Amino acid sequence: MIKKLISKEEVLSFDDVILIPGYSELKSRKNINTSVNVLYNDKKLDFKIPIISSPMSTVTEAHMSNAMISHGGLGIIHRYNTIEFQTKLLGYVNHRDYRAASIGVTGDYKERLSSLVENDLNVVCIDVAHGDHILMEEAVEYVRSNYPQLFVIAGNVATGEGYKRLALAGAHAVRTSIGSGSICTTRIQTGHGMPTFQAILDCNTARLEYYKSGDDYPIPYIIADGGIKNSGDIVKSLAAGADFVMLGSMLSGTRETPGKVIIQDGKKMKRYNGMASKVAQKNWKGSYNSIEGVSSHVSYKGTTSKVINEIMSNVRSGMSYSGASTLDELRRFSVFRRQTSSSNIEGNAHIFNRNK
Ligand code: IMP
Repeated sequence: MIKKLISKEEVLSFDDVILIPGYSELKSRKNINTSVNVLYNDKKLDFKIPIISSPMSTVTEAHMSNAMISHGGLGIIHRYNTIEFQTKLLGYVNHRDYRAASIGVTGDYKERLSSLVENDLNVVCIDVAHGDHILMEEAVEYVRSNYPQLFVIAGNVATGEGYKRLALAGAHAVRTSIGSGSICTTRIQTGHGMPTFQAILDCNTARLEYYKSGDDYPIPYIIADGGIKNSGDIVKSLAAGADFVMLGSMLSGTRETPGKVIIQDGKKMKRYNGMASKVAQKNWKGSYNSIEGVSSHVSYKGTTSKVINEIMSNVRSGMSYSGASTLDELRRFSVFRRQTSSSNIEGNAHIFNRNK
């Protein structure tokens, strides 16, 4: 793997960098392989696409999980509900080995986990806003020692140090970035955060240090989560070192998301709520405290299948611009450069601005 750290001083967002097209020997995009073969403990999980749907109440319940798994990705059933309801939803996921759900690190999380495990949970996502936290370390250790059969995703963290701490606690995969999500106001409310692109670079650097140290640590997979707004950002995430991307807004508004289609000004819309928004907090616990998200309506997008097919077609195209036939080659062959804001503006279709 190639060290991708660009700058120690500044933090970079997706739009600050551009992938440089390189020589390609790929004659057909059909030969591009986007699979990720995950190994953990003595088990494996095979994914055809590196995409996971967010554990959010307006993104992933059973329909979304089934749609994602049937495309070769993963959907994580959110935890903003009762134990009984979440367990019931998990039961509707009809693909053994890929049943995934999230839990927290306080309150009833042990009971929740036990109930999910009894219903054949395979992947647990320990899901908190600030995952570089002692309660997260303790929860990861608890899950690993009590349920050794589970694949454990932990997060979110913003730094390589956070990644290492969760690696030492035993996480198999770590979600990276704080405050980047499309519905997130954490940076405004708290002044803290880390762009997803930078978080991937820093976690990847930490991972490379692990490889070099030769120590016998688990080396967690990296899941880039939050702020991924188009397929170009997905390609940048994977090229920078992420093994998977987690999508909220890009999958919001699809048929398989929870919630009804509503008509606004003659247009079909669905809700997409930040889990720390006032609306979402009131919905699941009846009250709210620190508000770090917003709720919104998004256009109805049709089926998840259509959206995923479009995304993956663009991801394959992106891989071919770097001459990569696998995701590992994408990481090795890709070259990033910083770009100016005028370069970024030029990269958007700009004919529309000219007639103004
Ligand atoms: P998106 O793909 O940019 O829409 O971001 C989705 C991600 O935002 C989720 O996977 C969570 O990590 C994060 N997230 C979800 N709800 C909130 C919130 O209310 N505040 C901050 N971050 C959130």
